[in-house]
Amino acid sequence: MERLSSPARLMIVSDLDHTMVDHHDPENLSLLRFNSLWEHAYRHDSLLVFSTGRSPTLYKELRKEKPLLTPDITIMSVGTEITYGNSMVPDNGWVDTLNNKWDLGVVKEETGNFSELTLQAETEQRPHKVSFYVDKSKAHEVTKELSQRLEKRGLDVKIIYSGGMDLDILPQGAGKGQALAYLLKKLKSEGKLPVNTLACGDSGNDAELFSVPDVYGVMVSNAQEELLKWHAENAKDNPKVIHAKERCAGGIIQAVGEFKLGPSLSPRDVSDFLECKADENVNPGHEVVKFFLFYERWRRGEVENSEAYIASLKASCHPGGVFVHPSGAEKSLVDTIDELRKYHGDKQGKKFRVWVDQVLATESAHGTWIVKLDKWEQSGDERRGCTTTVKFTAKEGEGLVWERVEQTWSEESKLKKDDSSWII
Ligand SMILES: [Mg+2]
Repeated sequence: MERLSSPARLMIVSDLDHTMVDHHDPENLSLLRFNSLWEHAYRHDSLLVFSTGRSPTLYKELRKEKPLLTPDITIMSVGTEITYGNSMVPDNGWVDTLNNKWDLGVVKEETGNFSELTLQAETEQRPHKVSFYVDKSKAHEVTKELSQRLEKRGLDVKIIYSGGMDLDILPQGAGKGQALAYLLKKLKSEGKLPVNTLACGDSGNDAELFSVPDVYGVMVSNAQEELLKWHAENAKDNPKVIHAKERCAGGIIQAVGEFKLGPSLSPRDVSDFLECKADENVNPGHEVVKFFLFYERWRRGEVENSEAYIASLKASCHPGGVFVHPSGAEKSLVDTIDELRKYHGDKQGKKFRVWVDQVLATESAHGTWIVKLDKWEQSGDERRGCTTTVKFTAKEGEGLVWERVEQTWSEESKLKKDDSSWII
């Protein structure tokens, strides 16, 4: 990844459904805890990789439903598609690798002979993945017959049957494990092999992730029987793979701590911000993560309505500081903080959450920092995001001073008319 000029301190490679995302937690708490930790302590020098069975279409749907961060690298469709960055640029080297002994036309032709196979939705048919539904009672026989036929046609494929209904046909070289191995090899060739890599999963197709050499692994507490069985039979004595006590993203945080891969205290687990002492090293990204977390708690009424908070916030703002609201309106930063008083607890019981994504700080001149981030607010079922730029100056003995905050609506948020509940 071009963003990092040296090896990532930590690369987390995580499955999404029931690993990063807890579908049984409507509040998404463990995911939000992970998000704060990542943006606070890892975003600037580490890599986040999502590895999912979902196709690009279903992956994008999940991102709209859940407060997922933007990963640096996305591996989709069971390891058959690797893309980079926000714009999801495909890895053509991986495409070439997968083309070996693979012919989509031949796969379609041969599978057409099996009346037991029902083609899945068009969005699930990918250049290197053909997906069907098949009845459990027929799966074994169909798989056997089909692999013989495809072999005769000169192809080398992998047929994966999962969840008691899904049958995926992929090139033999594909899969979550091989995609990760490819990625590590590529990073190594660029001199950027991550210092540590942690793979996270919950189900059968994640087992491959834990078989990649030199990779730490966590099976979240809610991992499926099939993965635990695989572990018992194949990786029981590997001290680098653990079965976490916590569910989903909570288990990932637990593993980061147990393997000592870096900080594992999420800012969401710190209750009092006034007691949260500034780090020895100046880190404006921390200030932003902390501020928006405080802002969420303030409006949820989870922190005391105390003048001490307002005074402390005002003290960290430059007296002439400016806030540019995404609507274009400009206000003084100090006045904006003063106004917060009337919003204490206004979102109580309204499923109000705030999270930040892609927090990146750069020192533009000595002692002057520019922090760019995407800030998101969810209130009930409504979600809105904006790109935020914060300018800080470091003052001797006073820490960081907020000079200017400027926001613009994200593409999907532009269309919404009502600006009234967006404070900062
Ligand atoms: Mg999963």
